[in-house]
Amino acid sequence: MTQHLQIGDLITRAARTFGAAPALVHGDRTVSFAEFDRLTDRLGHALLARGLAPGDHVAVLVPNGIDGVVAYYALAKAGLVRVPLNARETDVELAYKMTDSAARALITDGRIPAEADIVIGTAELDAMIADAPDSPCRVARDPEAPLRLAYTGGTTGKPKAVVLTTRSELAEVANFLVDLLPDLTPDSVMLHAAPITHGSGAFFLPHLVKGARNVILPKFTPQAFVDAAVEHGATATFMVPTMIAMLLEDAVIDRDRLRLSRLCYGGAPIAPTLLARGIETIGPVFAQLYGQAEAPLAITCLQPWEHTPERLGSAGKPYTFVEVEIRGADGAPVPVGAEGEVVTRGPHTMSGYWQRPEATAETLGADGWLRTGDIGRLDADGFLHLLDRRHDVIISGGFNVYPREVEDVLLTHPAVREAAVVGVDDARWGQRVAAAVVLRDRVDDQALLDHCAERLAGFKRPRLIERWDELPKSAVGKSLRRTVRETLQKSLEVSDHA
Ligand code: AMP
Repeated sequence: MTQHLQIGDLITRAARTFGAAPALVHGDRTVSFAEFDRLTDRLGHALLARGLAPGDHVAVLVPNGIDGVVAYYALAKAGLVRVPLNARETDVELAYKMTDSAARALITDGRIPAEADIVIGTAELDAMIADAPDSPCRVARDPEAPLRLAYTGGTTGKPKAVVLTTRSELAEVANFLVDLLPDLTPDSVMLHAAPITHGSGAFFLPHLVKGARNVILPKFTPQAFVDAAVEHGATATFMVPTMIAMLLEDAVIDRDRLRLSRLCYGGAPIAPTLLARGIETIGPVFAQLYGQAEAPLAITCLQPWEHTPERLGSAGKPYTFVEVEIRGADGAPVPVGAEGEVVTRGPHTMSGYWQRPEATAETLGADGWLRTGDIGRLDADGFLHLLDRRHDVIISGGFNVYPREVEDVLLTHPAVREAAVVGVDDARWGQRVAAAVVLRDRVDDQALLDHCAERLAGFKRPRLIERWDELPKSAVGKSLRRTVRETLQKSLEVSDHA
């Protein structure tokens, strides 16, 4: 095994440098850097004492809070592999992930979706920590050994577990520090509003190593977010686009009282109209990340100063240490400006999918290039424009339709709050375009169809637009097109037979 910096080393070093300063805040509980180091050491020892062995998989099912963060980094120090589970998911979804990931243990705040050899309730953690030896816990792991398993969004099929290593985690921290958060100081404050099991969790270590504070919002509501951002002087946060839409709809925002310098967003496409409204309301602090579980949060980023009106539809440029290419169906790079699959390479990418050699071979080449499954193009200035997921592209009468383009057009109508566009089967055209919309104001069907007709070629126009009260979303706020498609397909069959 090569000698290598371990995640625990970063925590111990931060404790030596920033000692008594607050590292973590959640409600009225504050944990200093020194305490965080000690808590994670002790819990690391306690987990090993419960019979777990380095390399074992441990599912963690606790809502956003300090216990979860302590558990994550105790696991890293003990050489255990964390499998973060999102508390917003149903027992059926979680049981699948626990079984699929072969979790030996579960750390839980009470829910037990599936049995595991060892179940540890969060109520036990304090006693475990109190009884454990007060000495450094550092089980050195090979940089290529699994550190955590991250589940893909599962918007097109069953979620797959992505294996991420110490090598990928350290590279992820470096990517953030170089490109996204280059000016962190001990005075910086990260406000975690989204689940730390996903995107927001990636902001934890970059802030910690720079002596900055991580504040966890007990529960996201738009106004609670704004109030906490003001109270704690938040300088950075991470949101998925749905949260930004909620924030702009439902919160009273006085931008003079905010200290935010980075409102990072990503994880799903954002409508340029929403982004423009956000910048107008909150200021030029938006920073976009494009990434995926397989290449955690870092493929491209659109910097705040790059959010010019003509670039609002772009996902930005590759991170400094990340390569991006666009490849055609034959696997060869396409000329600048042409469409194809986005492929990427960098030290932060996964080592493969857990126990899915075929999916790994399809996705990750021996040369380290990762197929993202996203279709996009690079413009002459090197900016990436994402068109859609490869599997979501609609083929109608032989023409490709990117659902996202149609959604963006629907969203430019003032009465439309949310839109999901999918392809439904059609005997004549192969597929045709259908949409579900959530309205903010009344509007008749014809007005919406006319709005699309003025802006979209005939084959891209929705043949069916249904009004829904809400769109189905995954636990991290991604629109579940698969469910939308099934429902619209059924409606069409009913109306065709009527
Ligand atoms: P997941 O692995 O569940 O995080 O999903 C990753 C996928 O979300 C990517 O492959 C993209 O399709 C989508 N995605 C992530 N970030 C962005 C972004 N900034 N713009 C558009 N789509 C995004």
